[in-house]
Amino acid sequence: RAPQQGFSLEDARARLKSIFGFDEFRGRQPEVLERVLAGKSTLAVMPTGAGKSLTYQLPATMMAGTCVVISPLIALMHDQLRSARANGIRAATLTSADADWRETMDAFRAGQLDLLYVAPERASQPGFRDMLGSAPLALFAIDEAHCVSEWGHDFRPDYRQLRPMMDAFPKVPRLALTATADEHTRADILAQLGIPRNGMIIAGFDRPNIRYTIRHRDSAAKQIARLMAETPGPGIVYAPTRRKVEALAEQLAAATGRPVLPYHAGLPAEERSANQAAFVASEDMVICATIAFGMGIDKPDVRFVAHAGIPKSIEAYYQETGRAGRDGDPAIAVMLWGAGDFAQARQRLSETPEERRGGERTRLDALATLVEAPGCRRAILLRHFGENPPESCGNCDNCLNPPKVADTSEVARKLLSAVYRTGQSFGFGHIQKVLTGNADERIRQRGHDRLSVFGIVGESEAALLQPLSRALQARGALVATEHGGLALGGNARAILKGDETVEIVLAPPRERGRKRGTAA
Ligand code: ADP
Ligand code: ZN
Repeated sequence: RAPQQGFSLEDARARLKSIFGFDEFRGRQPEVLERVLAGKSTLAVMPTGAGKSLTYQLPATMMAGTCVVISPLIALMHDQLRSARANGIRAATLTSADADWRETMDAFRAGQLDLLYVAPERASQPGFRDMLGSAPLALFAIDEAHCVSEWGHDFRPDYRQLRPMMDAFPKVPRLALTATADEHTRADILAQLGIPRNGMIIAGFDRPNIRYTIRHRDSAAKQIARLMAETPGPGIVYAPTRRKVEALAEQLAAATGRPVLPYHAGLPAEERSANQAAFVASEDMVICATIAFGMGIDKPDVRFVAHAGIPKSIEAYYQETGRAGRDGDPAIAVMLWGAGDFAQARQRLSETPEERRGGERTRLDALATLVEAPGCRRAILLRHFGENPPESCGNCDNCLNPPKVADTSEVARKLLSAVYRTGQSFGFGHIQKVLTGNADERIRQRGHDRLSVFGIVGESEAALLQPLSRALQARGALVATEHGGLALGGNARAILKGDETVEIVLAPPRERGRKRGTAA
């Protein structure tokens, strides 16, 4: 059945105040609303915090029939449900965690629901499609729409079943929403969900109040403790594994005396939601979490987001850091990276299904470029999302404290040759000794002191070896072997042949002199 049409933006504005209590629309909300209210299918690409939910919740209260919202996470749906109901919107969820299915279905059939939230795997079931046919529909809203694209960073096969389901209701408009989609992914979303090319509305991605800082990781605990000492207010620390979350939470609490709670999928549900609630209510708490944390959390005053290891992609980085400073006040995003992060991620590539490997590799390369860049971080982020930003932003580490760049192509060739000539199975320490002519027992035993690369790196170049090895690993020119050795990879040949230059960023003066912990 066709939705009732003919609502104006003025009607919507009146409801904005009466239902949500807001005075004005934000950013590109009016354009999205105008299309939706006119029954036109739309893809809205808007950064986290831009107010995407309102672009379907508001029409849902105006248009005849129910707005069906597809959302990938139960926790996310329940958060949305709570806030919609708090605004007096008639909303329900149909998930495995709900006991009131019958009431929900009855309410739907009686036309008493503005919003019905379902998971994609539910939405694609024939029984569900039949049920949808039993009452008028206003709109399909597809949240986190990048999940439909294999090119996107979070592909969910169930999203592919949405198109056939929605095609059964050709008159019901579709609104796809995402915060994180590069050009390729956007085109894919349009095609996969049947939205016309001219139906795309993209809001600006810049978050000018976030200061981006990316550093090499010496000790995550020490570096983040220092950040916490300098940055009062709530913060989120992302760590890659549950174990690291727990350990880091303890270390940070001990080092700073500030309240720090862990959050990851391995904690009992009650503890998890208690920790989350405490964080949302608090004005100075830090939550140490895996990336399971943050989706759908509406806490505007987060003052910093720290990554103790590399995120999955630039999209993921943008989304995770985007949880800082939603209130518009200054906030900091700090990423700490290690060569091992990239080495591991590249190793996982081999376990990735063939058809997705190319995309994953491109994502890693883009992340490596961001991490190693001597120039403006914001410019790289914004260009990644198709914008045309100024060369420098004045509010990232590299703009505030421009790093020195060194052409290390010559040393890189020496390093790669040494890896090659020693048989691509030794770790960095061994290679370093060979290159600097520092023969120990093992080197003599293997005859590595008789190689042409023995001792070819002088004192002035020796200091470049470690950062260079990290940079080459980030780029994939050096890869880690199973046994912790280094081998040649990717573009190593081009570098060896002199077809590719290698420039690296030298740590800014403040960091350079600091002692690194002993190798024990
Ligand atoms: P997104 O889904 O795009 O990340 P949300 O829909 O969660 O963002 O909205 C982020 C915050 O902005 C919420 O607290 C929401 O209530 C608020 N918000 C949305 N639209 C407006 C508006 N027009 N004026 C003021 N606040 C708004
Ligand atoms: Zn900058």
